[in-house]
Amino acid sequence: MQAETTEAVVIGSGFGGSVTAARLAEGGVKVTVLERGPWWDTVPVRSMGIADRTPLPRGMRLFARAVRSVYHPWLPWGRTRVNRRGLFEVYFSRGMEVVCSSGVGGGSHVYSALHRRPARPDYWDGLCDDLDEAAMAPHYASFLARVGSARPGPNNAPPHGAVEIYSNHPDFAPAIPKDEVRVGFRFPEDPKNPRLVKTEAGIDRWETDYATGDHGFLGAPSGSKSTMDFIYLGPAMRQGLEVRAMCEVISITALPEGGKRFRIDYTDHDGGGRKAIEADHVFVGAGTLNTLRLLLESRDRYGGLKGMPGLGKRFSGNGDIRGFWDLNDADRDYSEGTPSKGAIKMRDDAFPQVGIGRNNMPSVNAYPFPRFLRERLKRGMVVSGMGEDAMDGVATSEGRRFRIRFDPKNSPIYAQIYEVMQEMARRSGRKIYAGKTPATVHPMGGACVGRPEEGGVVGANGEVHGVPGLYVVDAAAFPRPTAAPPTLSIGAWAENVAARFLAAR
Ligand SMILES: Cc1cc2nc3c(=O)[nH]c(=O)nc-3n(C[C@H](O)[C@H](O)[C@H](O)COP(=O)(O)OP(=O)(O)OC[C@H]3O[C@@H](n4cnc5c(N)ncnc54)[C@H](O)[C@@H]3O)c2cc1C
Repeated sequence: MQAETTEAVVIGSGFGGSVTAARLAEGGVKVTVLERGPWWDTVPVRSMGIADRTPLPRGMRLFARAVRSVYHPWLPWGRTRVNRRGLFEVYFSRGMEVVCSSGVGGGSHVYSALHRRPARPDYWDGLCDDLDEAAMAPHYASFLARVGSARPGPNNAPPHGAVEIYSNHPDFAPAIPKDEVRVGFRFPEDPKNPRLVKTEAGIDRWETDYATGDHGFLGAPSGSKSTMDFIYLGPAMRQGLEVRAMCEVISITALPEGGKRFRIDYTDHDGGGRKAIEADHVFVGAGTLNTLRLLLESRDRYGGLKGMPGLGKRFSGNGDIRGFWDLNDADRDYSEGTPSKGAIKMRDDAFPQVGIGRNNMPSVNAYPFPRFLRERLKRGMVVSGMGEDAMDGVATSEGRRFRIRFDPKNSPIYAQIYEVMQEMARRSGRKIYAGKTPATVHPMGGACVGRPEEGGVVGANGEVHGVPGLYVVDAAAFPRPTAAPPTLSIGAWAENVAARFLAAR
C-alpha cells in the first residue's frame, strides 16, 4: 500500500489531541489529525462550514447513537462495535469500569466542563529533570485563556448550587474547594434571554440556556459548552490543520532509517477502507484507554514498536465512584442550570476528606422514556466522588484482547466514597444507586512521565523514552491520580508538549 506523507500526525481529537494539533499547526507544522468518530452537529460546527455532521443522540436516536463500542470479558475478542457514529465507549471488567467517548472534540462534548487543578499542589514536582509546577504554570494559563474558562457572577449564577441549597442544611454542607473552580461554559449575561454570540475566531455559539439543561453528558447542540472542535481545531484549520473524522488508527510502526520515521495504519470508516500515512512525528491523544491499547497493540500484537518497559503499568481510575441519588424532590427540577452543581460533605465532618460532587441528568426531555420516568430523573442527582487511588492497575494486550487488571481492594478510597454515599442515603432517607466496582470517567496513567530508570515511559516533553518522534499527549502520561477532574491538566500537558516541540524545532 502506497502511503501519503506529512510532518506530524495527531491521533484523537479530545483535549490532548486538539490542543496539540492546533498549537503545532498554528506554529507552522504540517499536521493531520486522525479521529475515529464523526463531527457532531452543533451550532459552532455548522458555522465552521463542516458539511458531514452527525446529530447528538436524542429521542429515538438515543439507543442507536449513545454507544459506539463495548469491552466486556465475555465478548468474542473482548469487544464489539455497536455504532461507528456512537458517542460513548464503555469498558467492563471485574475490578474497573471505564467510560470514554468518541467524535471530533472527544470528551469535551460529554464533560461537565469543570476545570480544576490536581488536588496536591506539588503534582508535577520531582518526576524528571526540567518539569515542575513552575514549568507547567504558563501552560495551565494558556489553556484557561483559550477556552475562556469562567465563573458566573452573582446575577447569572445557575440554579440549584450547593451553597444555595445546603448552606443551612442540618446534615449536609457545601464543600468549598481550596482552589478556584472554573467552568467551560459561556454564561448568559441575562439568564432569561440567552443570546447567539460569536467567538473571537468568528464562530457562532449560544450563551447557556439554564431552562433547557441540554448541555450535559449527551453534548451541547447549542455550543454553550466550550468544546475542543471549535475552540482549538476550528481556528487552526484556517491555518492549514487537516482533520480527518471517521478515521480509526489501527497501529503505529517505527520505520527503518531513510524516509519518514513512522507509518500509521488506519481505517477510513467513511468508505475509504484501509489506508496508511507516514510522518516524522506521532502524537498519541486517543484518551487513556485507547492510547494504551494503541501503543500496547502496536508493540505486542503488530510488532511495530519496541521497548517502553513501563507501558501499561500504573493505571489509575482516579478514585471515581458514581451513583444516582433518587431525591424525588417535588419542588425542584435539577435538570435546569449547568451540569455540575457543586459538591457537598457531611456537616458534622464525619468523612472530612471526601466531598461528593452533584450533577444533574442532562437533556432529560429528549429521552424516549415515559413522562413519569423523565420527571423522576429530573428530580434526582448524579453523585460522584474521586480521590487518590493506589494507581496499581495494569493494562495489557494479549492476542486480540486488551485488558485492564485492577483490584479496588488495594485502594481504600473506593470503599470510603461508597460508604459516604450510603451514609448520605441514610441521612437523607433517599436511596443512592451506586455500584461497588470503580466506574471511572477519568482514567489516567499507564504511560507515565518520569525517568526511565524509575519506570517512566515519557519525558518532560511527552516524548517516549527510546522512541524518538513518538509522543503521549493525554492523561495516559499522568504520573499520579489528579484526585480532581483532569481536563485542565490534560490541556496544560498538551500545551506543554506542543510548546517544547516548537521551541526545539
Ligand atoms: C460524563 C462525563 C463527565 C465528565 N466531566 C468532566 C469534567 O467536568 N471535568 C473534567 O476535567 N473531566 C471530565 N470528564 C473527563 C474528561 O471528559 C476526560 O478526562 C477527557 O475527555 C480526556 O481527554 P483526552 O484528550 O485524554 O481523551 P478524549 O477526550 O477521550 O479524546 C480521545 C479521542 O480519541 C479518539 N480515538 C480513540 N481511539 C482512536 C483511534 N484508534 N483512532 C483515532 N481516534 C481515536 C476518540 O474517539 C476521542 O475523540 C468527564 C467525562 C465524562 C464521561
